[in-house]
Amino acid sequence: MLLTDALIQEIRQLINKYPHPRSALGPALHAVQRELGWISPEAEEEVAALFGLDPAEVHAFVGFYNMYYKEPKGVYHIEVCTNVSCKLRGADQCAHHLMERVGVHDWGETSEDGLFTVDHAECMGSCGTAPMMSVRKRGQELPRYYEQLTPERIDQIIEELRANVDKPLPVEPDPMGPAHFGGMETKVLLARVTKPDSHRIDTYLADGGYEALRKALLEMTPEQVVEEVKASGLRGRGGAGFPAGVKWSFVPKDVFPRYLVCNADESEPGTFKDRMLMEYDPHQVIEGIIISAYAIQAEKAFIYIRGEYGFPYARLQQAVDEAYEKGFLGQNILGTDFSLDIIVHRGAGAYICGEETALLTSLEGYRGHPRLKPPFPAAVGLYGKPTIINNVETLANVPHIIKHGAEWYRQFGTEKSPGFRLFSVSGEVKKPGLYELPHGITLRELIYEYAGGTLDDRPIKAVIPGGLSMPMLTAEHLDVAMDFESVQAAGSLLGSAGVIVVCEGTPILDVMARAIAFYREESCGKCAPCREGVPWLEKIVLRIRDGKGRKEDLDEILRLSKFIEQQTFCPFGPAAVWGQQSAIKHFREELEAYIEETNPTGEPPTLPVRPIYRPDVGEPAKERA
Ligand code: SF4
Repeated sequence: MLLTDALIQEIRQLINKYPHPRSALGPALHAVQRELGWISPEAEEEVAALFGLDPAEVHAFVGFYNMYYKEPKGVYHIEVCTNVSCKLRGADQCAHHLMERVGVHDWGETSEDGLFTVDHAECMGSCGTAPMMSVRKRGQELPRYYEQLTPERIDQIIEELRANVDKPLPVEPDPMGPAHFGGMETKVLLARVTKPDSHRIDTYLADGGYEALRKALLEMTPEQVVEEVKASGLRGRGGAGFPAGVKWSFVPKDVFPRYLVCNADESEPGTFKDRMLMEYDPHQVIEGIIISAYAIQAEKAFIYIRGEYGFPYARLQQAVDEAYEKGFLGQNILGTDFSLDIIVHRGAGAYICGEETALLTSLEGYRGHPRLKPPFPAAVGLYGKPTIINNVETLANVPHIIKHGAEWYRQFGTEKSPGFRLFSVSGEVKKPGLYELPHGITLRELIYEYAGGTLDDRPIKAVIPGGLSMPMLTAEHLDVAMDFESVQAAGSLLGSAGVIVVCEGTPILDVMARAIAFYREESCGKCAPCREGVPWLEKIVLRIRDGKGRKEDLDEILRLSKFIEQQTFCPFGPAAVWGQQSAIKHFREELEAYIEETNPTGEPPTLPVRPIYRPDVGEPAKERA
């Protein structure tokens, strides 16, 4: 037997925590990996026996999620984010330096002394403090982030890791805190984030925390809460922008139990706002969850947080425990007949689980595949019951709306996009960070007044306004107002308000190549147009980049991406191709000039040039040799 009695006991406790045992499969595998170092086929069999499943089901589950190790790793598993925001800040050079420093020659390799395994990773929500790497230590479940990397800092970190190999690795990021918090003078969601101990319940209470909960539970009916949020016009902050109160009102009457799920699977490259809220003001989020659960009459809520978010998870769990201690969670909250439990559930590395139906499938203990809609989760969701899924930032707005009223909220923003927004700004700007500003502020103001302008004052070339999945805009669009309608009218979408700035001098092909690699990596594989089409697109982009492209390839990219956009099962397909389409739309001249320069004779392409994307750190040393 590989699983010890203590580990079996822990898994049984996890199983008891959930309404349906299979939901505990993911957390159980995190625990198994912590104890055994990786998930071997033998471990899968033993876990399967505990859950009454076929080992093949556990194997399929493990295979789907990036964070489960299918083979042993070094003592430290280092993952360097090479996604667009980190790449724009020198991630590839940092990765190259790291590899040389620990003596590995390629991604996935372990150093000879067995201490370090180095991998590249997709966006880990550290875009405002890029470049970054995440380190998981054998025997520990939660990773630690190292941010604002430079080659010198990497040297230092590696020395520290070597020197402290016998000690636990702290979960707090190093350095602590984000690069910049900023925005409007009187902040709301970010009002407390820079205060000492802002994450603790005592400071939250001292600042008036949980007063909105008191008001909702003691002075309002659930219907009145729904009506107030509806009147505020609060729109979802996860990406789609659907009005939250309207969504709540879709829950069918008289069907119980109901569930509230907080979507904390923030994985959209360029977006790190939810992480900051969970790290620096988790009680604001929890208060929003309790009020929202009351509004829809749910007695069980889940926070599905991406597995890579170790520190936010620790802070959230601590905050949930504190809320129980103070009587804000549990039975008969504030002496009313409303009761609520919150389970904080860690994902295991799958971007698609940010899509609400994939999230539910994952939470139920399956591979995170999206489901067909309708029925919508509000009617048939988690375990087949009515379920409301709201994003972290959306829920964090709720206490303020209840406390101050819908009218107060509507004084910010525009008529159709009321309220303020957390803009994550990253890429080639002087002050990447999180800025709280009313909807309707222009891109120009956001970038130049708040984010300090561009690096080295270079002219702006492209701006991705709503997370990597949204079409690019250009310098011509700097006066676009950052609200749902105006960004859409300009040819993109506000999405998660993750603003990535690209300056002149950065080849657009580099951005295209890194972006499409991300979608190839993260396609869930359920439907063929995405599973097969996205890698095909990537191969075309890479052969252009590698000097084997022809001008016709640009039209081929457009043709193929149109097909993907129209044929895929879930919104991932369009998200994967909009960046490519918009890059060709705005930068065709640059791309054609590159093709002409690198393949002047227009030689026919040879496929494959490179099987998969390799972050641009030069050829691996062993191949060079
Ligand atoms: Fe999965 Fe992609 Fe199809 Fe969505 S579009 S279901 S992510 S394969």
